Amino acid sequence: MRHWFLLPINLITLFFLFFVVVSAQKDPTHEEIMEERMNYYLKFESVLVPWYYLAAVDQFERNIQQVRNDIPNKEGIIALQFTKDYWVGRLNPNKDDTSPESIAFFAGSGLDGNGDGYANPDDDEDVLFTMATFLSGYGKSEEDFVLALRDYYKREETVNQIITIANLYKHFNTLDLNEHAFPIPVSHNYSYQGTWGDKRGWGGRRIHEGTDLFASYGVPVQSTSYGVVEELGWNDYGGWRVGIRDNHNTYHYFAHLAYFNKSIKVGDIIEPRTIIGYVGNSGYGKKGTSGKFPSHLHYGMYKDNGRTEWAFDPYPSLRLWERQDKDAGL
Ligand SMILES: [Zn+2]
Repeated sequence: MRHWFLLPINLITLFFLFFVVVSAQKDPTHEEIMEERMNYYLKFESVLVPWYYLAAVDQFERNIQQVRNDIPNKEGIIALQFTKDYWVGRLNPNKDDTSPESIAFFAGSGLDGNGDGYANPDDDEDVLFTMATFLSGYGKSEEDFVLALRDYYKREETVNQIITIANLYKHFNTLDLNEHAFPIPVSHNYSYQGTWGDKRGWGGRRIHEGTDLFASYGVPVQSTSYGVVEELGWNDYGGWRVGIRDNHNTYHYFAHLAYFNKSIKVGDIIEPRTIIGYVGNSGYGKKGTSGKFPSHLHYGMYKDNGRTEWAFDPYPSLRLWERQDKDAGL
């Protein structure tokens, strides 16, 4: 994870050794996969773009592959993939072309990243080099990165999600941001049930998109993940609410708070267990409305699949994080 990996000779040697070591094992550990992935990103950063831009695009692609049926799940360390037309050129009659010369002739984008003479869309280095070259065509600043992403994905929510991932990777200088926490410190009294899809009376015909965690007024509410604070303020359904976007294309929604942690604002980067506010009974009316129901935290999870964002049931995640926090003695 250190930048001395970038010394060219060390890089090549270490990269080779690492590959040999990893490929000699049957099941690389989570840490080994993360480290190998990071080595790939670092390999192309010095000449082209910061590693966390490449890493963010790759992670976004990994996230959407897990929730989409219309795109293949790419095997291997790197998730990034291109359409055949993008890789070989739309007018190229050979959709499996790997010749850099004929791909270039047909204005395809596929490149040979490791100098083996082939532009192979199944080769992680060729794929990363192709994306790094595309991104670097716009420059190295965040504004340039935004422009490149807009051109490539043509969807503002996707650009926002990838920028969020990039900022998290840059801030924490690691890919390993998978830790989660139960939204209420488990030492407090609380209760909750799977209430997914229950009908709700207020605000017309709606179904309940989330889980209600009942606890006393003023009990702390903590972040369940690493993430960026995207919303913080009033909304007529949720009252005082906070929205946090993480590195897995998930938006975490905390509603009906009594009040916020005053030191948190929109755009802040936070960690699991950062206190974001306190359990309350705000909402179901105009700004400041409270007391229409018992104090509880409404917790919702929304997933962006690159086309749309939808709510999914947070109950199984809550059960898992609760057990993990209790096992850790928190
Ligand atoms: Zn609720």
